[in-house]
Amino acid sequence: MKESKTNIEPKDANCFPIYYLNDCVISMVEELKSIGIEALIADGLGKRIRFEDLNGQISDIAFLDLSDRIHLSAAYCQFLWSICFVALRMYDGIKVQNELERLNSNERTQYFEELEKYKETDTIEELRQYVDWEKCTKICYSVFESGIEIINNKIDSFDKYYTLPNATESNQGKVNAIYCYAIVFILNHEISHFGLKHPYNVSKSQEEEADSSAFWTLYSDIEVSKKISAMIGTLAALCSLMFFNESLNGDDQHPDEDKRVLSALSIIKDEYPHYLGFVIKLFEMWGYYFSYEEYFTKIRSESTNSEDYFNKILIFFENKKQSNH
Ligand SMILES: [Zn+2]
Repeated sequence: MKESKTNIEPKDANCFPIYYLNDCVISMVEELKSIGIEALIADGLGKRIRFEDLNGQISDIAFLDLSDRIHLSAAYCQFLWSICFVALRMYDGIKVQNELERLNSNERTQYFEELEKYKETDTIEELRQYVDWEKCTKICYSVFESGIEIINNKIDSFDKYYTLPNATESNQGKVNAIYCYAIVFILNHEISHFGLKHPYNVSKSQEEEADSSAFWTLYSDIEVSKKISAMIGTLAALCSLMFFNESLNGDDQHPDEDKRVLSALSIIKDEYPHYLGFVIKLFEMWGYYFSYEEYFTKIRSESTNSEDYFNKILIFFENKKQSNH
């Protein structure tokens, strides 16, 4: 029998759907050559990942304990999956809507006829979910709410997480890939603390070092065909941290949350324009969650392009931080 790499098996009923991706996440970590996981384990890094927060309340996202075992919050993982789903669905959906708007009514009819004709292909199936925009946004809203319920400690049952789109569904390949890489980044950050021999009480610069090491491992080790998913996953993981601190001022040990996103984004931004678009989507979700939606809508309407909008959001973050003091 295969040795279990975590303390959880998906067959233990009453758990979040994301457990079904555990094996996938672990094998991705094992495949990253520059981590050299086996040597680190030989050096004392705990072999199994311990899932915490099984009841659905987030205590600590992830940490390395005094015995060098990695702990990961299962509840955080499910929250992360939810925001990956929404950001991706909304971002891709808006692209499709923009395409549709450019078509005249004849072309549009033809477009829908084409969709009907090719029922069976995955891409068409994927496009179809965006055509009914109202339905698409409604689903996104529900999934987002289900994630927010986790960070607000309002979970009453796990059932909802299976009735909404979730990680166990075969058509969630794209979201699952992004989520898995996001968790790989989070785990890799903890592994980096161990590999770099950081003390238990890390400093801010050691936190930055762990982020940087986790980023570069993913950036350099992943084969080209999977790189975009890996980078989007990394950005999603870093953006997710912003939801835990409205002030964005970091803390004694951690750099400002928005700065952590920026240090990764600034390296890869020019390689693929959709990285910026995806981060903007997550920033907007953050704005929605903390009731800054109106302000985001205002600065978006005043912006000439995504880059300009993005810079205006960054100025907003900075001003906000000043006023926190
Ligand atoms: Zn850390």
